[in-house]
Amino acid sequence: MTEQKKSWQKPSFTPHRLGTLNKFGHSTANQYCAQFEGVQLAPLLEQYGSPLFVLSEQRLRNNVRKLLRAFETRYSNVVYSWSYKTNYLAAVCNTLHQEGAWAEVVSAFEYEKARSNGVPANKILFNGPHKDRDILTRAATEGARIHLDHFDEIDLLEDIAHQLGTVVDVTIRLNFDTGYTEPWTRFGFNIESGQAMDAARAIGDSTSLQLRGLHSHLGTFVIDPRAYGAQINIMCAFMTQVETQTGCLIESIDIGGGFASLNALQGSYLPPEQVVPSMDQYAEIICDALHQATHDRLAQGKEKPRLIMESGRSIVDDAEVLVTSVVANKRLPDGRRSIVIDAGVNVMFTGFWYNHKVVPIQPLEGIAEETIIYGPLCMNIDVMRASIMLPPTAIGDALVFSPVGAYNNTQWMQFIEYRPNVVMIDCNKAVSIVREAEDLAVVTAPERVPEHLQQPFVDQQD
Ligand SMILES: *Cc1c(COP(=O)(O)O)cnc(C)c1O
Repeated sequence: MTEQKKSWQKPSFTPHRLGTLNKFGHSTANQYCAQFEGVQLAPLLEQYGSPLFVLSEQRLRNNVRKLLRAFETRYSNVVYSWSYKTNYLAAVCNTLHQEGAWAEVVSAFEYEKARSNGVPANKILFNGPHKDRDILTRAATEGARIHLDHFDEIDLLEDIAHQLGTVVDVTIRLNFDTGYTEPWTRFGFNIESGQAMDAARAIGDSTSLQLRGLHSHLGTFVIDPRAYGAQINIMCAFMTQVETQTGCLIESIDIGGGFASLNALQGSYLPPEQVVPSMDQYAEIICDALHQATHDRLAQGKEKPRLIMESGRSIVDDAEVLVTSVVANKRLPDGRRSIVIDAGVNVMFTGFWYNHKVVPIQPLEGIAEETIIYGPLCMNIDVMRASIMLPPTAIGDALVFSPVGAYNNTQWMQFIEYRPNVVMIDCNKAVSIVREAEDLAVVTAPERVPEHLQQPFVDQQD
C-alpha cells in the first residue's frame, strides 16, 4: 500500500479568546457526522461520487406525520398540501403523497409534474401569478383547485368556464398586514384597500365562477407563530364579510406555508434550536385562533372550514444533506485560511441565506481555525461559508452540509459544473439514485447547432 501524502500548511497564529462564547474552548469544531439515518456516508461517496445529495425517506414521512398529528389532534378538518417548488423530485413528492399530502403547484410545469406523478387533479392546489389559457383550461377541465391571483385571471378563467359551459369553484389569494411580517403585497388581492372584496364581488356576480376558498401565504421562515394567529383572524373576518355580502359559502381557509426549519438564517445570533418554534407551537396558535374565529358558524348551521397548509421547508429541509469533498487548501494574502470544495452555490443556492451546519464525516485532527469555504466555481460569489471554525483538512476529506432539503434541488443551476447524483435512503436503509448526475449528453441534449456552425474551425487554405 502506498502512503498518502500528508498535506502541509504554513503555520499561523490565531488569538485565543476567552469567555463563554469562546469557540475554541467549547465549540462544534470537533464534531463529526459519519452517517446519515444510520447509513455510512464514506462508502456512499465512494459509490455515487462527490458531491452527493442524500435524502431520507423516513425523515420525510416522520416530518409530515408530525405536522398532521399536531394539527389533526387540535382541529377536525385538516389538509396538508406539498409545495412542489420546495423540492419537486418525484421520489420526494410521492413519499409525501403516500402520507396523504395533496400537491401545491405554481406553474404549468409544476401542474404537469404533479399530474405525471399520479396526483388526481382535485388534490392539486394551483397557485401562482402566471397560468396561461392552456393550462387553466386543462386545470378547469380536470377539476383542479384553482387559486386566483389577479383580476385579469378572474376574467380569463370566467371566459374559459363560459366556453366549457361549466361552473368552476375558485379560491382567491389574499394579502394583508398581520403586523408580524413584511406583507407580500404582490401576490393576490389586498384586503385593506378593498381590492379583495371587489374580487369576491366580481366572482359573486359571475355565473361561471363560484368562490369556495380563501388563501394566503405570509412569507417564508416565519419564526413568530403569532403571525399565523393574526392571519387566521383576518381571514376569518373576511370570510364572514364575503359570505354576508356575496352569499357565497367558504369551504376552506388555506394558510400557505412559511413554517421555519431548523436552519440558521445568516445574521441570526441565536442557534435555530432556540429561535425556531416547534410544530406544536404553530399548531396551538393556529387551531386556537381558528376555533375562536369560527365559533359562531356551527350555531348558524354552517360547517367549520377545512384548514389547508402548504408548508414546504419545514417538511423537507432536514430530510436531506449534501456531502462534499475538499479539493484544495489555500492561505489568503491576509492570513486567513480557506478551503475549496467540490460543491458550490450552483447546487446549494441556499448558501446565500443560511449558515448551514458543516461537519466532517470523520474527526479532524488539529486546532480549529477560522476558515472560509469556497465552492468550485470560477466566480467570486461562490462562497459556501464566509466563516467557520474548522481544524486543518486534507484533500479528499468530506464535509456534510445540512439541512439542505428545501429549495436546493429546485433552485440549483447547471452552471460551470454538472449537477451531481441525488440518492435516497429508504425506510429499510437501502440506498438508490433518485436523480442521476448530469453529463455532457444531458446538458447538450436540448441544443441545436445550425448546419454552418457544426465545425468549430474552418480550414483555411493557403
Ligand atoms: C413557496 C410557497 C409555499 C411553501 O413555502 P415554505 O416557506 O417553504 O413553507 C407554500 N405556498 C405558496 C403559495 C408558496 O408560494
